[in-house]
Amino acid sequence: MKKIHFLGILSFLIILSCKEEVKEVAIEKTEEPKDAVIVHEEYTKPEPTEPEATEYYEPKVPVVGPATGGKIPADAIVLFDGSSLNGWIHTQDSTAAKWRLNKDGSMTVADKTGNIRTKQEFGDIQLHIEWRSPLPVQREGQNRGNSGVFLNGMYEIQVLDNNDNNTYVNGQVGSIYKQGPPLAMASVPTGEWNVYDIIYHAPKFNDDGAKIKSATVTVLHNGVLIQDHTEIKGTTPYIGWPKNPAHGKGPLMLQDHGDDSRVSYRNIWVREL
Ligand code: MG
Repeated sequence: MKKIHFLGILSFLIILSCKEEVKEVAIEKTEEPKDAVIVHEEYTKPEPTEPEATEYYEPKVPVVGPATGGKIPADAIVLFDGSSLNGWIHTQDSTAAKWRLNKDGSMTVADKTGNIRTKQEFGDIQLHIEWRSPLPVQREGQNRGNSGVFLNGMYEIQVLDNNDNNTYVNGQVGSIYKQGPPLAMASVPTGEWNVYDIIYHAPKFNDDGAKIKSATVTVLHNGVLIQDHTEIKGTTPYIGWPKNPAHGKGPLMLQDHGDDSRVSYRNIWVREL
């Protein structure tokens, strides 16, 4: 009996030690990185049985006049309505913008007069801007109707006449220049007006100036989604890697590509988010 009892205890210990090993392996597995499960705490309480329990009235949502039929939203800041270039300055020396003001309510790049920027600065924005590539077409690739919309004054959404005009995809129309090609090419025929509707969220930096949250951008080109909450990985230089200098609010900047691009803009407004 004693022998059996001893063997019994031994078996029990062996099983225990095996279990310990299994336990250890199991613990190691749980330490592997996993996607965090999303739990919406507010919906974990006992479920209501009355409809009123899941309805609320405050805070009120702001009423904004709609932007249909060529109108702008009631709370938009108009950056260019065709009446003057007063809200814009030369990017380098802050002198008056020298681009051409046209009688049809648009403005056109005056070649080699430099990029222009808004006097006003912004962080997160919804931006509406219309642009047109010139006729007759001239040259090829990046030298055909090249301009650009620079968010925060430094992140370029490419403007280019890409109709029957091949170029690198991460520099084509609607790209985050040299970072992210668009999801689609949605240009109207050359000489007609394109529309960009852009939602931009600025990056965040810590006290040491290091980036802790990337900027993101969503772009609709003529109503077609071409950038879908895309991460902006830094500045958009012609040569070299994107850089991430710390910054706060910045202007909206439009590019003079310096090669007689003749690109025009009209109806520019933003809503601060
Ligand atoms: Mg450009």
